[in-house]
Amino acid sequence: MKRVGIIGGGQLAWMMGDAAKKLGVELIIQTPHKDDPAVSIAQETVFAAVDDAVATGILAQKCDIITFENEFVDLDALSLLENQGVCFRPRLAALAPLLDKYHQRCYLQNLGLPVPKFFALEQPEDRSKIEYLGFPVVLKARRHGYDGQGTYVIQDLATLLKIVNQSQTAFLVEEFIPFTKELAIIAARSVNGEILTYPVVETQQEQQVCRRVIAPAEITAEQEAEIRAIAHTLLNSLQAVGIFGIELFLTGNGKILVNEIAPRTHNSGHFSLDACEVSQFEQHLRAVCGLPLVNPILHCSGAVMVNLLGYQNSHSDYQNQRQQLGEIPHSHLHWYGKSESRIGRKLGHITVLLEQPNQDAVNTLIQTIESIWYTHS
Ligand code: ADP
Repeated sequence: MKRVGIIGGGQLAWMMGDAAKKLGVELIIQTPHKDDPAVSIAQETVFAAVDDAVATGILAQKCDIITFENEFVDLDALSLLENQGVCFRPRLAALAPLLDKYHQRCYLQNLGLPVPKFFALEQPEDRSKIEYLGFPVVLKARRHGYDGQGTYVIQDLATLLKIVNQSQTAFLVEEFIPFTKELAIIAARSVNGEILTYPVVETQQEQQVCRRVIAPAEITAEQEAEIRAIAHTLLNSLQAVGIFGIELFLTGNGKILVNEIAPRTHNSGHFSLDACEVSQFEQHLRAVCGLPLVNPILHCSGAVMVNLLGYQNSHSDYQNQRQQLGEIPHSHLHWYGKSESRIGRKLGHITVLLEQPNQDAVNTLIQTIESIWYTHS
């Protein structure tokens, strides 16, 4: 029996619950709120913020290995624990280059991986660099951005300066990529260095938040191979252990660029719960516990995953909509049990398995799901 500590108690940790039971693993969670989703599946919870390293010291005494569902941790403070022998998987050195978006871009570029043109915004004299990129540009907070928070598509210098001047944060500026598709891949690396990748998926964002995922992505075999190779290069270089999510852009001329790395399970891999031989959550626990990985192939011909995002402030549990969604053939509904809905909050997701994936069937399904979910009752 292994005891795994998880820093963070949101839906990503909650979705490890079934896999933990299956593998005979106990989960101990560090999360601040008693109604966070993963509290219900945890053996025990340390109630504290994810960046509270003192609390992580307490967590460490209760478990054999610590992993992450949220990477917004205090790495300097945690490294004291690592030096005292606490086992973090992935190890802290695999997170260190990724937590600041500028450092992450530099790391990827130094590895020879393709990324958008970028620079760290230092002073107004950077105007010439901004003008060199040409508007629109994308302005990103270097730290703590997620679900599009801190990411802005900027059309002119005045708007850029206004946002920068109103904020205390450090920013990164990068070229706007007029992508034809956004793609993602989930990859796992074991303690022995074995790497297995999930099929590349298409992700669809609205207002920078993931709305849908289509598996597998309609791309060429060469593009699929290139993306799998990127995942191998990255995970080997980081000596990562566990699941990593990689988000990418596909451009009109077939070029692939890496957008962002998540050092943990990722929304783009939720389809794997119902559509693959092994879910990203089980694979992650296998990797961090030193168990053999499972080949994560699709066991159906395809799948569509739609996020159920809050569209109002409410305490409703949306019984009616959930029941209607559950009636869609070959559907699997995952409801995270959050006690409060806020606009844009991820409340659940639904995955529908496809017999014969084609664009029309996918579009019809998405329309059906979203028209049931986004009824303002
Ligand atoms: P977050 O960390 O908040 O998820 P991302 O960097 O992944 O932020 O950006 C969120 C979304 O914003 C992306 O999925 C994409 O739709 C859009 N985006 C980000 N960077 C660019 C870019 N350079 N060009 C065009 N769109 C972008």
